[in-house]
Amino acid sequence: MFGLIGHLTNLEHAQAEADKLGYAEYAKEGFEFWCSAPPILVDEFQVTSVTGAIIHGRYIESCFLPEMLSSRRIKTAIRKILNAMALAQKNKIDITALGGFSSIIFEEFNLKENKQVRNVELEFERFTTGNTHTAYVICRQVEEASAKLGIDLSKATVAVCGATGDIGSAVCRWLDQKTDVADLLLIARNRERLQALQSDLGRGKIMALEEALPLADIIVWVASMPRGVEINNEMLKKPCLLIDGGYPKNLGTKFNHPDIYVLNGGIVEHSLDIDWKIMEIVNMDIPARQMFACFAEAMLLEFEQWHTNFSWGRNQITVEKMEKIGQASVKHGFQPLLSF
Ligand code: NDP
Repeated sequence: MFGLIGHLTNLEHAQAEADKLGYAEYAKEGFEFWCSAPPILVDEFQVTSVTGAIIHGRYIESCFLPEMLSSRRIKTAIRKILNAMALAQKNKIDITALGGFSSIIFEEFNLKENKQVRNVELEFERFTTGNTHTAYVICRQVEEASAKLGIDLSKATVAVCGATGDIGSAVCRWLDQKTDVADLLLIARNRERLQALQSDLGRGKIMALEEALPLADIIVWVASMPRGVEINNEMLKKPCLLIDGGYPKNLGTKFNHPDIYVLNGGIVEHSLDIDWKIMEIVNMDIPARQMFACFAEAMLLEFEQWHTNFSWGRNQITVEKMEKIGQASVKHGFQPLLSF
């Protein structure tokens, strides 16, 4: 059995979707209530591969909200993630993906030191961040969407916002090793980590976001921002391809310009329907088929019976592992989302 640990994007979203989670009484409750709410096992479903294999999964809502980080409720955020992991383990789930901010909190606050959650000793090999598959899917989106738009990668400048992160650094490695992309712009706040990445890659220009925006043909957004940034379309090159892999989304702006193309990054579409409710709750366009690539990674590990923390620790993702999970992804019928 595989598991998915997820969360909603903000308090308003959580209140609006509470009844779909099966907890209509949570809808009227405010931030403090959500801070004290325990994790909930919301959904159980099965997924069929195009090979015919069938697996069973469960979704756990952690009741974490990104506002817990911006309002410095760090202990609350940590408790949410550890409790959700303990609940997954108590439910005897073999491999569980830590969606969205769950894995970021795990890494940022070094939760591997917190193995004991009341009477449950967490077995970390039962969890994966799902970031290897997410990075693979984003790179395939860069390659396929640019081809579709007639953007020649060998002449293109690609900016990665969140370049030093787990997903961002993997995307940079892939673009460097597997494509002939002309220029890479590296964006994040911490200068030392940017310099370390630049020296690992042996290329890339470190830039502030405002400097990079007018130069980039393609921008990959994989920064861990609790809220999206507003961007004026005049700052962007035309045409420009924006691939937003953030959850919550990195882009706070909705563009209405014929030469600005925005793609939902890190999303895959399965070839067969899944009878579940969670992707409707997170507003996927085709909820029976589309999902976060990190969730799909848990499914792939279950299909392949690779019960191991395939993606674990920060900045450990290799191009070889991306290729391996990518082959499993294709084999079981998942495709990167390519519709704008
Ligand atoms: P990490 O915490 O590993 O990396 C985050 C990166 O963002 C770092 O480079 C960080 O560097 C940078 N960053 C944070 N804030 C800012 C800012 N204000 N401006 C510029 N850079 C910033 O995160 P992950 O790689 O694990 O995840 C990245 C995003 O992808 C998240 O939004 C996450 O929710 C989403 N995600 C999506 C998945 C999917 O399936 N679609 C799966 C998993 C994650 P610095 O701190 O130095 O600025």
